[in-house]
Amino acid sequence: MIEDKTPQRTSLAQLGEFGLIDHLTKHFGVSQESTLKSIGDDAAVLDFKDKKILVSTDLLIEGVHFDLAYMPLKHLGYKAVVVNVSDICAMNAKATQITVSVAVSNRFPLEALEELFAGIALAADEYKVDVIGGDTTSSQKGLIISITVLGEADADEIAYRNGAKENDLLVVTGDIGAAYMGLQVLEREKQVFQVNPNSQPDLDAYTYLIERQLKPEARKDVRTLLHALEIKPTSMIDISDGLSSEIIHLCKQSGVGCNLYEDKLPLDPQLINVCEEFGIDSTTVAINGGEDYELLFTIKMEDFDKIKGNPNFTVIGHMVPESEGIHLITRADTKIPLKARGWNALSEES
Ligand code: ADP
Ligand code: MG
Repeated sequence: MIEDKTPQRTSLAQLGEFGLIDHLTKHFGVSQESTLKSIGDDAAVLDFKDKKILVSTDLLIEGVHFDLAYMPLKHLGYKAVVVNVSDICAMNAKATQITVSVAVSNRFPLEALEELFAGIALAADEYKVDVIGGDTTSSQKGLIISITVLGEADADEIAYRNGAKENDLLVVTGDIGAAYMGLQVLEREKQVFQVNPNSQPDLDAYTYLIERQLKPEARKDVRTLLHALEIKPTSMIDISDGLSSEIIHLCKQSGVGCNLYEDKLPLDPQLINVCEEFGIDSTTVAINGGEDYELLFTIKMEDFDKIKGNPNFTVIGHMVPESEGIHLITRADTKIPLKARGWNALSEES
């Protein structure tokens, strides 16, 4: 799992650009009604009828956003799709198509790109998004992946960051902090491996955390769940940079403050154990760790009964007047201002 050893190495030059594109994209089919023309022409053609169209894009650079030492290429392809789909989920919309652009250096054989595209195909299948185009080119150094995602929704369904109101409840899906501790475990194993390449890591105690880091999922189910419960979120965002910075985004854009309750934060038991092992405060990880790709949203107080006891959702706070600020209320009942530290700040510190 640590190293992705590719037994066979076919050089990209052997295929040529068009041969390569054809080889990598020939298995992509069409499942969305809105895809009229997919890969193969100068542009794809889409028809969204009376729906609103959403667009989001992400750029991933080797050495900046991912490290191939512990990120197998198949996982990378999967994750690159997931982070994009998550942005559409975070608008309470449905992802429908993606384009995939890659730049690779000649260090990568065909088999490596096949792995990457196998991950992309797996995610495209899981999330029912059509791969409708892209671009393939060479880079001087390293691997670069850019994915653009399109989605659809009715105008009145779309949830923006700026709709939260005073007294709205703040809700998070799933649990948080696990992806960050998964990365810490992987970083530690990488260092052990560098010192002793024969070491066999025993990662049983960390399976959930590592999976959250290496194979995150986008919460495409939340839109359906909320729809069934007849809840329209007043604001919504996905947790890529960490809970505190996302709460601050919602508050700033909505012109409200927030009280977040430490004792309400949903933490997986494995996360609590590993935080103890690493000597890191689990609340700090839950608040500042990133890459969980859960959804954070606000609902009207009167909708509380509709989500009460639902295992997908945890109410972690409520919105207050802007003048009251944005605070964490600790277990000891002290009020600490929330700071936007985000993911990078935390990793620099540790
Ligand atoms: P152009 O010369 O117009 O840029 P290309 O030869 O690059 O066209 O691409 C041919 C077709 O293959 C287009 O439909 C393009 O969108 C698609 N394509 C190219 N690279 C990729 C890729 N990495 N993933 C998906 N589709 C791709
Ligand atoms: Mg091209």
